Amino acid sequence: MSMEKRLGILEGIKRVVIKIGSGVLSSGDGRGLSVETLERLVGDICHLEADRRFQVVLVASGAVMAGSRMLSLKQEHLSIPIKQACAAVGQVKLINSFDAAFAGRGKKVGQILLTHDDISNRRRYLNARNTMTSLFNLGVLPVINENDSAAVHEIKFGDNDTLAAMVTSIADADLLLILSDVDGLFDSDPNKNSSAKLIEDVSDIDDDIKLIAGESSSTTGVGGMKSKIIAAQTACVYGIPTWIISGKAKDSIARALREGKGGTFFHPREKKVARRKHWIGHILKPSGRLLLDDGAKKAVIDSGKSLLPSGIKHVDGRFESGESVSLIGEDGKEFARGLVNYHAFELEKIKGKRSDKIEALLGYKSYDEVIHRDDLVLTGF
Ligand code: GLU
Repeated sequence: MSMEKRLGILEGIKRVVIKIGSGVLSSGDGRGLSVETLERLVGDICHLEADRRFQVVLVASGAVMAGSRMLSLKQEHLSIPIKQACAAVGQVKLINSFDAAFAGRGKKVGQILLTHDDISNRRRYLNARNTMTSLFNLGVLPVINENDSAAVHEIKFGDNDTLAAMVTSIADADLLLILSDVDGLFDSDPNKNSSAKLIEDVSDIDDDIKLIAGESSSTTGVGGMKSKIIAAQTACVYGIPTWIISGKAKDSIARALREGKGGTFFHPREKKVARRKHWIGHILKPSGRLLLDDGAKKAVIDSGKSLLPSGIKHVDGRFESGESVSLIGEDGKEFARGLVNYHAFELEKIKGKRSDKIEALLGYKSYDEVIHRDDLVLTGF
């Protein structure tokens, strides 16, 4: 893939989500947050904002890392509640450090802490968007992290790569730039293989790419390369390129955004999914799974049909109507997600049956469709 193509894409970019991993912000010698690294990155971001007129949203990790150091605890063996306590302490240090570094350059920051639950609710998702827009209009740079102290498994993003990918849609960004403690995606793990080669451009996140990513790791943060690939996928289907570059190498941000150089560039899908469909397919966490027969899968994929009860073979999970579910083919793979019109126990009664039997089986009928086409998104890649 040519450098011109990258530069062409960069031309149109106005708003960038920059994700800075814990591994980048960590001093690496157990001394916790590296304020020097943070200062350097803030300097680079301010330069770029000034001369390319980019607007930047930061997704910054490092709360647990900074907090555990401040509390003299070893990060590796902490229980979840202790990690949450570390995050509460470390987040103060993190945001204060960003605030001071940006203030020194005449820039104000605003902190937004999110749980996945916040953006699973459509109204709160839209509220977060409005806040973000107001911050931009006021010239304030949003600094985002997961609200680790409040988040438990069910409402967690899991890692900040996932959070950053979702923020690209909340913030209406044009690029997701992930600063990592490695230079990008390699064809094998560079920590284990000295002849590993950097993959410069990825136009299709296929099984080979996922396999390669599954093997590499990052030590300080939660997300290894695998979570970065999932993040890239989430952003790319929304038409947003993702770029993984080194956050450790000096001037890597400028080299990337000014010259198009460095790292691994994931080219976006040309056909972008609409915002609401992106929210359904790539932001909501599915609460259950529906196993479909081949006929129903074909009708959904090839003919753009809604999902009817007749094609459902098996219902998995407990969910209410209005929640998101995964649609699984007979090969066991997810190919779509959608907002379901019936509760799981209702689907148990009507699965495999024709829509004109719903009323007799349930005693009422809310909808013919189990998932209406407008609420259904193909996710298979
Ligand atoms: N939110 C976590 C923190 O600030 C980091 C999650 C991650 O490393 O991806 O410590």
